[in-house]
Amino acid sequence: MQASRRAFFAICGSHKRDVIRPPWALPEAKFIENCTRCSACIDLCPTRLLVKGSGGFPEADFTPGRATEGCTFCGNCLTACQERVLIKRQDQAAWTLQAVFGESCLAAKNVVCRTCGEACEAQAINFLPHLGGVSRPQLKAEACNGCGACLADCPTQAISLRPDLSLSIATQGAT
Ligand code: SF4
Ligand code: SF4
Ligand code: SF4
Repeated sequence: MQASRRAFFAICGSHKRDVIRPPWALPEAKFIENCTRCSACIDLCPTRLLVKGSGGFPEADFTPGRATEGCTFCGNCLTACQERVLIKRQDQAAWTLQAVFGESCLAAKNVVCRTCGEACEAQAINFLPHLGGVSRPQLKAEACNGCGACLADCPTQAISLRPDLSLSIATQGAT
């Protein structure tokens, strides 16, 4: 491994939780070792989700208002990647992200809002009756694919995507 790559990996490893690689990326060590930082995946992403991140390596940036509809799993980035650090595996999800609803959710403040549920093609968001208030969003974790469409549409930026740690452990070491 080149010295510059080794140095970057040491930095990246310490901030690993903050970085979301493109879908179906190889495990971080192999990704950093083999990605040439050519930006081909970034250039072909139709939703502008992918950006050049730290060290010039591609990242998914779910900042509200940036990517128009999250990840559509169109596969353009995989097709663009000549180094094969993005490889679709039938038995593995694109990533281990799950939607989490925060305190600024309008429904939690008794304002009717179902925007996230309407944005979710996977139908992973239920609105359950809430005693003494309006229905609040609740995630069906097994249905959420981490696409980020709900996050892009939420008027109060109440949704974030977090890794599902149980899945991270289950898929560790997979190539
Ligand atoms: S699968 Fe498509 S939408 Fe998702 S990051 Fe890759 S190019 Fe962008
Ligand atoms: S779109 Fe945002 S504010 Fe509206 S219900 Fe969903 S999380 Fe709450
Ligand atoms: S991240 Fe995607 S699949 Fe998960 S709740 Fe949001 S819109 Fe639905």
